[in-house]
Amino acid sequence: MSKTIQELPQNISDSKPIFKIFLNNILENYHSIRRFAGGSPSAAVIKANAYGLGIEQVGAALYHDAGCSDFFVATPQEAFTLRNRVKKATIYVLNGLISGQINFYKDYNIRPVLCDLEQIELWQQHSTLPCAVHFDTGINRLGLNKKETDYFINQGAKKLNIQHIMSHLACADQTSNPINRQQLGKFQKISNHFSGIEASFANTSGILMGSEYHFDLLRPGLMLFGGNSSLKEKLPDAIKSSCEILGKIIQIKELERGSVLGYNSRWCAPKKSRIAYVNLGYADGFPIEMTGKAFCFISGEKREIIGQISMDMLAVDITGLANITVGDEVELLGKNITIEFMAETSNLSQYEILTYARERYQRYYIK
Ligand SMILES: *Cc1c(COP(=O)(O)O)cnc(C)c1O
Repeated sequence: MSKTIQELPQNISDSKPIFKIFLNNILENYHSIRRFAGGSPSAAVIKANAYGLGIEQVGAALYHDAGCSDFFVATPQEAFTLRNRVKKATIYVLNGLISGQINFYKDYNIRPVLCDLEQIELWQQHSTLPCAVHFDTGINRLGLNKKETDYFINQGAKKLNIQHIMSHLACADQTSNPINRQQLGKFQKISNHFSGIEASFANTSGILMGSEYHFDLLRPGLMLFGGNSSLKEKLPDAIKSSCEILGKIIQIKELERGSVLGYNSRWCAPKKSRIAYVNLGYADGFPIEMTGKAFCFISGEKREIIGQISMDMLAVDITGLANITVGDEVELLGKNITIEFMAETSNLSQYEILTYARERYQRYYIK
């Protein structure tokens, strides 16, 4: 007879890989970003589950412990989840307004970021509540295009209760790309028509480009979480890493010289070797693109990750390391293995490294 399982026994979760989120560092990063920008007010962009780190925990900490009162998320669902934890904060939904959602915005006191004239018309007809308007100055993604912008400015927004205007940089991680200046010029002109209304422009890389780009409110995402998409541009020294990933050893094996390991036999033992198998793989956000190029830290030593990364595990060469046993922890991201290193080695962006699904981890939030 099978037993009904009500709760996962503790020893089961004990065997999961570990995902530590340093809320304390995220809060410090928030303060450091503001200091870097001469004390400018800053929102927090915490879409995609706060870049994978947990929108409820990250949002609540920033709101209650760092005094951050403005948040940008991508979808109404994210806004709803966040609203439960930050009752009074200002929450903007970046992806725009869809008809049928008006009451949701009213009921939960959430502000839509209106992205075209139809959305503006829709909100104008049904609500005098606060909203934001997004102007597209060159990314050609969301926001009013040039023609719509001119029309909107000339015709005037009669009943619209605009509390915020914004635009988004297309190439901010290429500091010297002339598009940055062009966009800046366009947004400066637009913002002149909305004097007295709060304006925001700069994401992480925009913030690093200097005060002209800052306007009234900063919109950092990645830098809150210790990242900087423009690898050439240095992060302020004070920015700290936001998370750590520790795998656990599930098996240890001796391989004879010449033995091949893993799918497609991508690794061949150059001598008699001792191998540890660790309980996370590409399904846990360890990119398969790291195959052949990855390292980890085990017992204070840098060790090669060998063979093709599998879905649920990876292998580490621990030859010559003493006192390693099943259950030991292996650092795969953290103090020694940074997000920058992961991104550079895998040719993925720091955003991707962070936002990978991390369903199978035991999460710890550290304050
Ligand atoms: C994601 C996003 C941001 C934050 O960007 P980072 O590069 O992560 O700082 C800011 N503004 C908008 C509109 C975004 O979509």
